[in-house]
Amino acid sequence: MNYDAIVVGGGPAGSTTAAVLAMKGRRVAVLEREKFPRYHIGESLLPYCYFPLERIGMIDRIKASHFPKKYSVQFVSTEGKLSVPFYFFQHMKHEASMTWQVLRSEFDQMLLDNAREKGAEVIERITARELIRRDGTVTGVKAVDASGVEREFHAPVTIDATGRDAFSVSRNGWKLRDPYLNKIAVWTYYKGATRDPGLDEGATTVAFVPEKGWFWYIPLPDDVVSVGVVAEKDYLYSESRDLETIFQREVRKNKWVEDHVSAGKQFGEYRVTGEYSYRSRHCSEDGMVLVGDAFAFLDPVFSSGVFLALRSGELAADAVDAALTAGDVSAGRFRAYGAEVCEGIEAMRRLVYAFYNANFSFKEFLTEFPDMKGELTDCLIGNLFKDFDPLFAAMAKFAAVPAPLAHGTPLEAAPALRA
Ligand SMILES: Cc1cc2nc3c(=O)[nH]c(=O)nc-3n(C[C@H](O)[C@H](O)[C@H](O)COP(=O)(O)OP(=O)(O)OC[C@H]3O[C@@H](n4cnc5c(N)ncnc54)[C@H](O)[C@@H]3O)c2cc1C
Repeated sequence: MNYDAIVVGGGPAGSTTAAVLAMKGRRVAVLEREKFPRYHIGESLLPYCYFPLERIGMIDRIKASHFPKKYSVQFVSTEGKLSVPFYFFQHMKHEASMTWQVLRSEFDQMLLDNAREKGAEVIERITARELIRRDGTVTGVKAVDASGVEREFHAPVTIDATGRDAFSVSRNGWKLRDPYLNKIAVWTYYKGATRDPGLDEGATTVAFVPEKGWFWYIPLPDDVVSVGVVAEKDYLYSESRDLETIFQREVRKNKWVEDHVSAGKQFGEYRVTGEYSYRSRHCSEDGMVLVGDAFAFLDPVFSSGVFLALRSGELAADAVDAALTAGDVSAGRFRAYGAEVCEGIEAMRRLVYAFYNANFSFKEFLTEFPDMKGELTDCLIGNLFKDFDPLFAAMAKFAAVPAPLAHGTPLEAAPALRA
């Protein structure tokens, strides 16, 4: 079978890229290592997920699902005091202002099935091992299927959507860690833990713990809550390496979290991930483009990952389609794509830096700059592709705002130089 594009990885970024390309009539193969449904972290959506999901025809299906409705994000101080929630509908007069907390096993399965229905050929239990290059241009991948048989897939464009495994980024040595954002997360699940009443039932809660760490508290279907703590690795591991001991020690440090989980019963394992933020040195090379976490991963405090995966998938698919039409799939065709995705990431990254700055508090910031609430909320809902300079100029009075990272551009050197 001849393909126009091969998508490696069937998470939200890969499924979206594949669905959009298939909707444009392109022949697409999706190679996914796992058999879905599979577990994944990253359960809280941003309102702006609505638009890429709408484009690939997913909104009615998600509306019909049992995913809790999320109207807001709320913050809890280290003393356990709840702030006034940021209700998205106060800022955005669109049904997108209500979003969802998703069980990723189901959500990702729905997206992958959708890509299949749109015409993509989805192959599961197959692991991409190597990029195939001809004269310096990527022309496909070598992959190994469940029975250990090596198969080759060829197409003018390969899309790396392998998430934090970052298949091609690792092989190319392109992974550049964020100089400051170096936290890890420990998390687990509770059944029957307290949910706030009414509109706040499905809210994401971000609860601070001392040492500039924080908890997420995300209500899921079937009375389950996802609870995780994020902080510096050295701090979390300072007294014990046992995940349960670490997690429960931190729970006791925030009264709100302690009270909320005490009504429920913890179940399943305690999980951990090093979640160092990174961005690839390049967004593309000749014949290949990166999407989602395979391109960049940002600290998850503002739940931006799935949105960036969906949106980058959508943007990359448009760029790939145009490149195929032009008969030119060189790295430079993805310059505007890379710049746009990096612009969105930078907006969120500046907010994440402020969040971790000991001198910054949302409350004090908005007391001094009340007219910035709209801009701040835009960031929090995922309306990231706009000019945030006024917001961050104001924020710089409280916290150092990082300069944008220069990398994430196409690899455009001559093939001979690359070799
Ligand atoms: C602790 C933590 C909490 C988070 N919380 C949130 C949150 O609340 N909200 C949010 O929006 N985001 C959150 N995120 C981020 C979110 O999980 C990711 O941004 C999102 O899953 C990225 O989607 P993706 O499609 O790029 O990658 P993934 O969802 O990781 O999908 C990649 C797919 O590629 C497959 N794959 C990998 N290697 C290969 C290979 N060699 N061959 C074939 N297939 C392969 C994998 O099996 C996987 O299915 C969180 C992340 C972490 C670490």
